[in-house]
Parts: sequence; structure tokens; C-alpha cells
Amino acid sequence: MKVAFCSSEVFPFAKTGGLADVSGALPWALADEGCEVKVFMPLYKNINPQILDQSFGISKVGNVEVIFVRNDNYFLRDALYGTPKGDYPDNLERFAFFNNQVIEIMRKINFNPNIVHCNDWQTAPLIIFLRTKYKDVFKSAKLVLTIHNLAYQGIFPQDKFSILGISGEYFSIQYLEFYGKINLLKGGIVFADMVNTVSPTYAKQIQTQEFGCGLEGVLREKKDRLIGILNAIDYSVWDPYKDKFIYKNYSPRNLEDKYINKNRFQKEFGLAEKKNTLLLGMVSRLAEQKGIDILSKGLEKILKKHQVVILGLGEEKYHKILQDIEKRNKKSFVLFLKFDEELAHKIYASCDCFLLPSRFEPCGLSQMISYRYATVPIVHHTGGLADTVVDYSDKGGGFVFKNYSEIDLINTIERAKEVFERKEEWLKLLKKITKYNFSWQRTAKEYMNMYRLIL
Ligand code: ADP
Repeated sequence: MKVAFCSSEVFPFAKTGGLADVSGALPWALADEGCEVKVFMPLYKNINPQILDQSFGISKVGNVEVIFVRNDNYFLRDALYGTPKGDYPDNLERFAFFNNQVIEIMRKINFNPNIVHCNDWQTAPLIIFLRTKYKDVFKSAKLVLTIHNLAYQGIFPQDKFSILGISGEYFSIQYLEFYGKINLLKGGIVFADMVNTVSPTYAKQIQTQEFGCGLEGVLREKKDRLIGILNAIDYSVWDPYKDKFIYKNYSPRNLEDKYINKNRFQKEFGLAEKKNTLLLGMVSRLAEQKGIDILSKGLEKILKKHQVVILGLGEEKYHKILQDIEKRNKKSFVLFLKFDEELAHKIYASCDCFLLPSRFEPCGLSQMISYRYATVPIVHHTGGLADTVVDYSDKGGGFVFKNYSEIDLINTIERAKEVFERKEEWLKLLKKITKYNFSWQRTAKEYMNMYRLIL
């Protein structure tokens, strides 16, 4: 089976969030299942492939070819989509260009895919183009759209429609129009042969008004072709036994060494060096989705008893709120407003618990990474978190709250702290969660089944 896998970010080349983790692992897992996979992504800054043609470059990574679409004017920028102040104003132009080029390059290199697999709004135009202006090329290819986050839909003003180069008839309510604007994700959903989200619970939630972000009707119409496939993590990247970034490697057999990481982290970043104080971590985009509103409301109360570290980047208003709290709580709170892969690894390894108070969460990868690092997740019961974290009181490996409020978050942290204080019980919990398995092998098989179904 030949698969063209298109994504706007692929780890380790470019990453802002989970989409990159998925795109940096799933294609390789599909190749292990016997597929011939080519990955298409933009050629951003600091990526150096073998340039084959002025318009693209190639890197062979293991058994997958990664093809980088080149346009220095569009993609040689400091960020992928925009700055904390807002999105780049020419994102429609940038991603229309990218998706047109993917088709041109596939023709040029004679790659005839059975499956074209697109991800989120940035590559949804590829599905739109292949069913409109390019409908006579790659006719037999089946088109898959994975929605990693419905909150980002690629919405643009109507006057940009001509940039897509498709007939004006598609600016209508059955296709791309959404309240008088262009909605690229909607177009992708309408034209795709199959749509999936990244967890079963989120696949159901997005068909409701509460989580559908205005597309619940379109998604309900598509419901026979809409499924949820739970994400996984790459255990070769996330392995505390071999991790080069952490202070001291450890495995389920010597979990006491985890506390060396905690101690060194506290020391390096000026926290009080206390083994018995709960160290809570968070590595996240700082967007409302992630529960930063309830966390920041409850944070000073949490900091009276516990220590917190946050690594994140996102909306300016949350940067400011958190910076103010940091000024008043230097010994118990560290804040890093940046994207830093190495530091993320240190946080997963050093913390006792990991905070995921997300208002909604398509899947969430941090809880799976935390399990591997013997770091206990504290989560809001929603989306993929509901599919992966069962409360300790129900024999699960994390702590779960159902009401989205700072009070419930704080109470849940206190429940975790009670167990944390019973040292043997806690160690047993840590041992248990390190054995959980969320590997790409299982998930890739589910994607293969979906491909076979539509072929
Ligand atoms: P989302 O895709 O919604 O941002 P996920 O939980 O699916 O959330 O994936 C987030 C991924 O991005 C995880 O690998 C997490 O560790 C990483 N990440 C998020 N913010 C940062 C940051 N500031 N620095 C380093 N890694 C980050």
C-alpha cells in the first residue's frame, strides 16, 4: 500500500505540539506494517535536506522518505503559524501553496498513492484540491483526514477564496463556507473518504454542540465515516532508561533514582530541595483549551503546599498572569515561557505528578509520556484523557476530576498528595504506571484497518 502522509509539522524537524509527535512516528509504524510511505511537510528554517529541485528536498529517514516543500518566502520564518500576538496574515496563501505543491511533486516523482492521509486544517486543502480542480489526477487514491484538534479550523475571509484556485460554486454551505467565511477543515471533512480523530471519546464529543466548534452538524452527517483512533507515543524518544536529556537514567527497577532527578531539578532551578514536597509539572501550549484558566486561578493556593513547574508557550495574557504569580512565589514556582524539548524531558522525569487540567483534549500525549516516566497524571475527565486515565480510587494510574473548576483541581491534587505520603503505596503506583503500553504498533494496525476499509 502506498501512502502519502501530509503534515505541517513532523518531529524532529518541526514541532509545536502533538501533531508533530504523531507525524514523526505514525508514518514509520505504517512502514513497519509494510506500507510505502512518503511524508510531505514544508521546508522550515534549520532543516537541511538534500535539495533535489528548486521546489523541494528529500531526506531518507529509516524506511520513510520525507519530502520538504520549499518556498523560502513562506516557510523560512521563526515560527510555524504565527507569534504570540497572532497568526501570520498569509497562512491561507502559505498552505494553499504547500498543498498545490504536494500534488505537483507527487506527479513529478511519479508517486501514485493508494491513500492520501492529511492532518488538520493545514493539509485539508490537499483533500479539497484532489476532489475539485485536480479531480482527474490520482483518481483512485482514497483520502483520509485526521483531526488532531477541532478548535483550529483554518478560517479565512471570503475575499481570499480565489487564492485556492477552485470554482466559486464551492463557496457554499455544502462545501467550504462557514458563516460567510472560508473554512478549510470543513472542506476537508466534506470531501474526505474517511475522517478520524485521535481518541474514541473525542470522536463522539465533537458531534455535540459543546465540543463541535460549530462543525457538529457536518460531523454528524459524516458519522458513518468518522472514527476515533487513540494516539500513541514513541517509546524510543520517551524512555527514562536511555533518555540523554535527564539528570539520571532510571527504570521501573530503580525508581528511587527518579528522586535524584527531582533533587537536581529543584537545585538547578532554585526550588526548595524537599523530597517530601509534591512537585507538579506541566508542559503545554498555554491556550485556554489546556485549562490554564482554572490552573492560574488556583495556582497560588496550590503553591502554599506544593511546588509547580510550567514549561509552555502560547497566549500572551497567560504569559503575563503566570509571570506575576512567579514573582511572588520564587521558591515554589518555576516558569519557562519557551519551547524546549530538552527541558520537557527533564520535567517529565523530575516531577511527582503531571497536570493536565484541559477543558477539552482530543487525545493528549503528556499523560502517556508521564506514565513512562513514573509521573502520575492529574487530569480533567474529557476526550482522550477519559480514554487513558482511570482514577486511582477505581484501581487506575492517575487522579481524575470531573467538574471543570479550580476547586476540583485543587481537591484532586490533595487526593494525590495523600497517596504520595504513603511511600510504599506510592511506589507501587509508580511501578504499575510504567508498565502501561501505548505504542504505535497497536495504533498503526488500527490505521491500516481504516485504510483497508475504504480501499
Ligand atoms: P497539543 O498537540 O494539543 O499541543 P499534546 O498533548 O497532543 O498537545 O502534545 C503536546 C506535545 O508537545 C508533547 O510532546 C509535549 O511534551 C510537547 N510540548 C508542548 N509544549 C512544549 C514546550 N513548551 N516545550 C517542549 N515541549 C512541549
